[in-house]
Amino acid sequence: MKIGELAAHYELELEPLYDSNEAKALFSVAAEQVLALSSAKLIMQKDIDISFINMQKLLSILNDLQIGKPIQHILEEAHFYGAVFKVNEQVLIPRPETEELVDWIISDNSSRFLVNTNYKISILDIGTGSGCIPITLKKHLLKAEVSTLDVSANAIAVAKENAERINVKIKFIEADILTFKSEEKFDVIVSNPPYIRDLEKSDMHNNVLVYEPHLALFVRDENPLIFYKAIADFARTNLKPNGQLYFEINEYLSKEMIEMLVSKGFIDIKLRKDMQGKDRMVRAGI
Ligand code: GLN
Repeated sequence: MKIGELAAHYELELEPLYDSNEAKALFSVAAEQVLALSSAKLIMQKDIDISFINMQKLLSILNDLQIGKPIQHILEEAHFYGAVFKVNEQVLIPRPETEELVDWIISDNSSRFLVNTNYKISILDIGTGSGCIPITLKKHLLKAEVSTLDVSANAIAVAKENAERINVKIKFIEADILTFKSEEKFDVIVSNPPYIRDLEKSDMHNNVLVYEPHLALFVRDENPLIFYKAIADFARTNLKPNGQLYFEINEYLSKEMIEMLVSKGFIDIKLRKDMQGKDRMVRAGI
């Protein structure tokens, strides 16, 4: 079978789950990895025959896609801010919205370096998951000292593997933020904690619900700000003067989020929308 024919076969077979653009993108991601071709080459080489072994691999990926497995789990990798991260069912698949949050922190803090080139900024990320936030921050803010915390030992194991692969050194802490205490002070505290409520489950794709860790997705006890409040309290005591707190947030809870931050005495609160125009990020100072 030729590349173009298999692409059409993917589209047809995936029709119950994915629209034609999504199916095209899924084929392209799968084929790029299996055939080790760039997406541009893939488009230009539609008439090239696929070898038997690669065909088997691509059909097996198609089978997994048809049962709703996310492509990142099938390939065990996800792209985030220009790097490839290992992922599995123990960690949240890094999202593009989170790239925007990380980009905000990098752009804010790169300029701090220009002002004082010897200053070592300290960063704490809460809720490591795949390690996409702390690893990316360390990679792009070289002089930063980055620590990251997660309640899940399994998530920390994945993140450690990613830190090794991407060749950055960060500190890992296994702890629950609802009870975590530390004497250390940070310039930046960042978190993308679980923020989905039961009532939002019906909006979610089945492949997210079935395959991604509920511990990473859902709020506890139907208390939508449970993690944000605990992190804000921690930040009140553990941010350095002029330190900043960054959150990724539930798009429907931006008003409550800002009220909560104001009530805890945060200042210069800034809300940002994501690329889809949804309230998605907040920055606050002390
Ligand atoms: N920090 C990780 C991410 O943004 C994990 C977040 C989470 O598990 N809620 O992908």
